[in-house]
Amino acid sequence: MSRILVINAGSSSIKYQLIDPGTGERDASGLVERIGESAGRLLHRAAGAEEAVTVTARDHSAAFAAMVEAFARHGTPIAELGIVAVGHRVVQGGSEFVRPTLIDDAVAERILRLGELAPLHNPPQYDAIVAARALFPDVPHVAVFDTAFHQTMPERAYTYAIDPAVAAEHGVRRYGFHGISHQVVSRRAAEFLGRPITDLRQVVLHLGNGASACAIDGGRSVDTSMGLTPLEGLVMGTRSGDIDPGALLHLLRAGYDADGLDRLLNGRSGLLGLAGSGDFRDVRDAAAAGDPAAELAIGVAVHRLRRYLGAYLLVLGGADAIVFTAGVGENNAQLRAEVCAGLEWFGIRVDPERNASEERGARRIGADGSRVEVLVIPTDEEAEIARQVHELLG
Ligand code: AMP
Repeated sequence: MSRILVINAGSSSIKYQLIDPGTGERDASGLVERIGESAGRLLHRAAGAEEAVTVTARDHSAAFAAMVEAFARHGTPIAELGIVAVGHRVVQGGSEFVRPTLIDDAVAERILRLGELAPLHNPPQYDAIVAARALFPDVPHVAVFDTAFHQTMPERAYTYAIDPAVAAEHGVRRYGFHGISHQVVSRRAAEFLGRPITDLRQVVLHLGNGASACAIDGGRSVDTSMGLTPLEGLVMGTRSGDIDPGALLHLLRAGYDADGLDRLLNGRSGLLGLAGSGDFRDVRDAAAAGDPAAELAIGVAVHRLRRYLGAYLLVLGGADAIVFTAGVGENNAQLRAEVCAGLEWFGIRVDPERNASEERGARRIGADGSRVEVLVIPTDEEAEIARQVHELLG
């Protein structure tokens, strides 16, 4: 029995899953929330049972201790679970990390230093790495980066047209994110179609709370909508996506400072900013009830999606498949229909019945005879992390 413990840490939470890398099956999963607050919460699922308890986790180390106790309460002490490696999701790998990487002290330090480019993500992920290495000192720890998949983008796609000296000094270029998801979804799409991924041009639309589009040629990312940070591109739950940088200068001169702009664009924009809720279901319900702000929010989001889809059809010189994934992409048939409406000229036709089907799992929603396949492929970032760790360690 060998298992990989997959860790996805944020500033105030740690998600964990215990995965069989061969089958992708979970033996256990859970979440510690509100780390650093006086009353945190732990949710633990194992062997068909679920437990939610209040815990006090003053830091990531304490959160891992709470996780270990939860495993012990549910029958199997963590030492007996057969954990052979720990996989850590790391958001920003910069230009230096292009593949999963075995973590030693030097790698951990570099991950912390890349926090300059991802202040909200890398520092807490570094904390989790330090805590997990102390708790599991005898197994390899591997970092799997959200940016790595996009390191195949050509220079012309990742370069911002600014003074190269300034860009180099500050690491300003497009990195792209959601790479773990784009990678697993594009591979599973190829498996679903029974075709070699090297033969396929795919546009993958990862539409969740965060959202990004990716142009994938033969299994390699050649363009993606997120940039230096996960703020660029599509309209998201609370993030604006693309906005004229001149608007930021205008707001700075009008009295905003950097933190104020950060809160505005990352936390109070997107669907939340336009329609009052960052949850797509709420916005869809409000639009159906005739709320004009919600209708506009969806209109803006769909318009932006179609712009990126059109752009990526040209970047790829045509497409073999358009693939929807993540919370909204997997579940909202109406959005999928709106994104693909009127694109018959491009060989893209959605079958309304297939699209509306309650079926879950990988499925085809394109019409018979649609030149471009239209698919829904559920994402599974944790299974992909476990797979990449397993592959690295052999
Ligand atoms: P994710 O970040 O992938 O977990 O996706 C979260 C987003 O998916 C939220 O905006 C949810 O409203 C949306 N979502 C989840 N389930 C559904 C559903 N059945 N219909 C529409 N949107 C959904």
